[in-house]
Amino acid sequence: MRTEIQIRNETIMGLTLDITETRDKAAQRASAPAVASLAGLGRGEMRAALATLGVPERQLNMRLAQVWKWVYGRGARSFDEMTDVGKALRQVLAARWALARPEIITTQTSVDGTRKWLLRVAPASVAEPPGEVECVYIPEADRGTLCISSQIGCTLNCTFCHTGTQRLVRNLTAAEIVGQILVARDALGEWPGAERPAGETLPDAERTITNIVLMGMGEPLYNFDNVRDAVAIAADHEGLSLSKRRITLSTSGVVPEIVRWGAEAGTMLAISLHATRDELRDELVPINRKYPISALLDACRTYPGLSNAKRITFEYVMLKGVNDSLDDAKALVRLLAGIPAKINLIPFNPWPGAPYECSDWETIERFAEVINRAGYASPVRTPRGRDIMAACGQLKSASQRLGARARQAAP
Ligand code: SAH
Ligand code: SF4
Repeated sequence: MRTEIQIRNETIMGLTLDITETRDKAAQRASAPAVASLAGLGRGEMRAALATLGVPERQLNMRLAQVWKWVYGRGARSFDEMTDVGKALRQVLAARWALARPEIITTQTSVDGTRKWLLRVAPASVAEPPGEVECVYIPEADRGTLCISSQIGCTLNCTFCHTGTQRLVRNLTAAEIVGQILVARDALGEWPGAERPAGETLPDAERTITNIVLMGMGEPLYNFDNVRDAVAIAADHEGLSLSKRRITLSTSGVVPEIVRWGAEAGTMLAISLHATRDELRDELVPINRKYPISALLDACRTYPGLSNAKRITFEYVMLKGVNDSLDDAKALVRLLAGIPAKINLIPFNPWPGAPYECSDWETIERFAEVINRAGYASPVRTPRGRDIMAACGQLKSASQRLGARARQAAP
């Protein structure tokens, strides 16, 4: 039953703030952050938020531009920092909104400088515990790549992937996806005027985060709208300003959504191929039973804007005795002929209970040589952050989706 416990209209210097609290809203808030966060909202939502606070229509675009710049261009953590926004509006904003990010539960740093953050996000329902999600930063000499998650868990079960052993808990919201970038920028001192952390391995580049890869937990194309909205925020020139050329979405091969992604988002694309025959791919990447290799490659061929400068990355995990023969290498080269492609050989990253082993280094080198001879440059991806279980396919959080009975029983 919805029982209103408080209805109050507050007027602060000409702006009307409507605070209407109901019991069920209050109950939601008991386990969600106390106030919703403006950091993570898209332009449309932020504009609507300002309108709800009473900003007149004629001022909306200007106010939106100001607040947007503070949130995404400068990383403001407090409304007080927004010095070009009138004090009255700042007060109203602060009364209704927070500038929160997902909360860092742990930070782990690998011997190679890779960092992994375990982040806490809101629970899937009031009865469940908060969700946990991982996000990884990989510094190299001239670039810094942030690997972000799109889901808590995954509905697919690729047999070599640790995340695949975790049932889907829920999709992340666009704000939670963008929130991972904000957390990383906070921690890496990536805002104007902020200091970079001392003693950390960081790239020798103007920006510490130069690239974003949607290669963390989850299948991003099964959370299409939220991932698309998050990418729009990340790529916005007035804010985080990450060029779509530097954002790569990796998919296991959700063919119809690849076509849609090309039309609606158009970032760089990576395909988790891992096998050249349907029989083997059906086993390793079970979504192949629905969308076989030929359909997948057709979708790749028609991906918009492909050229030598904009190629699709094909990921191929090296599994000992499974897909690592020289015949496999030759078949891979034949299969990709005619598609502007990069090939990324990923040494299998082990996880507890994994049913595979990584191919021997010699085998990987010989496989890579075939690929090299066919004209593909530096195809082997150096494993990063293995010691902290931060490498490709090692991410998994403790979050579980409770069964219906457990949800009912929860206090
Ligand atoms: N769901 C998406 C993106 C997340 S997985 C996808 O499947 O593409 C990111 C990459 O890591 C994929 O290429 C995936 O196949 C690869 N991967 C998964 N488990 C791995 C493991 N144990 N070792 C190496 N790479 C792995
Ligand atoms: Fe999901 Fe990607 Fe792992 Fe497959 S490889 S289980 S799609 S996260």
